[in-house]
Amino acid sequence: MKLALLFGTALLLAAQQPADLILKNGKIVTADDGFRIARAVAVKDGRIVAVGDDSIAARFRAPQVIDLNGRPVLPGFNDTHIHLRGDAPFYIELEDARSIQEIQSRIRAMAARLGKGAWITGGNWSEDQLEEKRRPLRADLDAAAPANPVVLTRAGGHSSVGNSLALQAAGVTRSTPDPDRGVIEKDAAGEPNGVIRERNDVFLRHAPRASREQLRPSLIAKLKRLFSLGITSIVLAGASPEDWKEWQAIYAVHGAELPRAAVQIYWPGVEALRAFRGKTGDGDERLRLGAIKMLVDGGFTGPAAYTILPYKGQPNFRGKLTMTPEELLHRMRESHRLGWQLGLHTIGDAAIQLTVDAFERVLNEMPRADHRHYLNHFSMMPPRETLHKMAKLNLWISQQPNFTYTLEGRYNDNLEPERAAVNNPVATPMKMGIFLAISSDILPIGPMVGLYAAVTRKGMSGAVHGPQERISMKDAILAYTRNPAFFTREEKQKGSIEPGKLADLIVLDQDLLTMDPDRTLGVKVARTFLAGREVYAAGK
Ligand SMILES: [Zn+2]
Repeated sequence: MKLALLFGTALLLAAQQPADLILKNGKIVTADDGFRIARAVAVKDGRIVAVGDDSIAARFRAPQVIDLNGRPVLPGFNDTHIHLRGDAPFYIELEDARSIQEIQSRIRAMAARLGKGAWITGGNWSEDQLEEKRRPLRADLDAAAPANPVVLTRAGGHSSVGNSLALQAAGVTRSTPDPDRGVIEKDAAGEPNGVIRERNDVFLRHAPRASREQLRPSLIAKLKRLFSLGITSIVLAGASPEDWKEWQAIYAVHGAELPRAAVQIYWPGVEALRAFRGKTGDGDERLRLGAIKMLVDGGFTGPAAYTILPYKGQPNFRGKLTMTPEELLHRMRESHRLGWQLGLHTIGDAAIQLTVDAFERVLNEMPRADHRHYLNHFSMMPPRETLHKMAKLNLWISQQPNFTYTLEGRYNDNLEPERAAVNNPVATPMKMGIFLAISSDILPIGPMVGLYAAVTRKGMSGAVHGPQERISMKDAILAYTRNPAFFTREEKQKGSIEPGKLADLIVLDQDLLTMDPDRTLGVKVARTFLAGREVYAAGK
C-alpha cells in the first residue's frame, strides 16, 4: 500500500514538465487579446511556458513555486519616455526637496564638501513640490553658496536657475539679449533673476564635465531602481551617438540585471546620421536602438510649447518652435529616407499640427508601410482635422497623463481652464483610432501616477480636469504594458503574459482593476521578475 502510493507519486513527478518558476493562486492579468484573467503561470529559460488555472502547479514542477495569495500579476511596465543619466559627484538630486530652505541646506553641505570656487549642479526641483510654492531664484542660491557657481535645473529639464557666480561665468548681465530659442528672465529692476528658460547650456557648458567612469555607477543604480516601480522596459528619450556607445558598454556587462532598453538618438545632424552605424531596431532583447528624436517645441515649465492661441495673460506670446518648419521637414525626410523610426517631441497644439502636416508630406513622398512613427508628449489637444490625419497616417502617441497631475500648476498659470482641461488627451485619440502608449517623462517616474491620472483626470490639488478624457483602468494598464512593446517592434516578445513571451512580470500588493481608483497612488510593487528571475522584492 505504502509502496504503491510512493510509486504513484513518482509517476506523477515523471509526468510533470520541468520549469524554473511557478506563480500560483493569483490573479494573472494577462493583457492578451481577450484581456484574460488567469490564476497561474509557469516560466522556463526566461520565458512564459504556460498560463492558466492552478492545475499548472500540478502539471509543472519548479525549484521556485510562489503562492500569490490572490495578489495580482501584471506584465512589467514599459515606460516609453524616460530620461536617465548618471550623476556627477558635484550634482545634487532635488526630486524629493520640499522647500527652498531644504535646497539651500543641501547646497551648503555640497559647498562645504567641495570647497570654494567649485561648480555645483543639481536638478529635478519643482516649485509645485516646494512649501514656498515658488521657484528658487538667484538670491536664494547666493545665500546658500556665495563662493560657488550653482546651477539647478527644473524637473522636466526645460529651465535652470543659477546664482550670481554662475551668471557671471556664463557672461550673463542685465544687458544680455535672450539667446536663440531661450529666455533670460529679469526681475522688476531689470537684473537677471537667475532663471534661463530652454537653454540650460548657457550655464552648463561652463560647468566641468564628469567622466563616463564617474557617471556610470549612479546610472546603473538608477536603472536598477526602476524594478522597484515595476518597470521592466524603457525607451530612453534621447541620447547622443556617444551616449549610445556608453549604454552599449554598460549593457554588454550588466544587461542581464537591468531593465530592457531602447535608446532614442537625438537628431545628430545629417552628416552624423548618415555616418551613424546602425538604425532603429538594431540590438537585441536587452538593448536596442529606438527612434530618432527631435524637439519640435518647448514645454509648459517655461512656458515654451508652441501654441495656436496665445498663452493666458500673454497676448503676444505663443511659445517657440526650436527650428524652422523647413528645417523640421528636412530632418524628417532624411531620417525617414535612411529607414529610421521617428519619435518627435511635440507639446503645443501648433507644434503637433505642424509636425503631423510634415509627416503627411514625407509619407506621401516616401510611403512606408508599418513605419511606427510617433509623437512624444502630445500635451495639447490639436484641431480635429489633425487627429483625423494621425489616424489615417497611422501616427502614434507616447502620452504622459501624469502631467495632468504633476503639471497642474503650470497649466493653470499658462492656459485658460478650457484648454487645460483637454491637455494630455487619452480617451479622444483612442476613440479616433490613434494607437497610444502611456509613459512618464520622469514627472515623476512611477507608473502609478500615470495610471491614476489617466483614470481619474485629477491634478495634485484633487481637481478633475476634463473628465471626458478619462479611460478605464483596463485600457490604462494596456497602454502601459502591452501597447509600448509595439513602439519598439517587440510585441511578439513582451507586453503580455502569454506562452513564448519573455517572463517580465510584476506582483502588486493591491488589485488595480477592482479597487477605488482614487487610491491608485498607494499601490506598491511587491516583486518584480525579469526573464523569470526575481530582481526586486519589497522589504528585501
Ligand atoms: Zn522628455
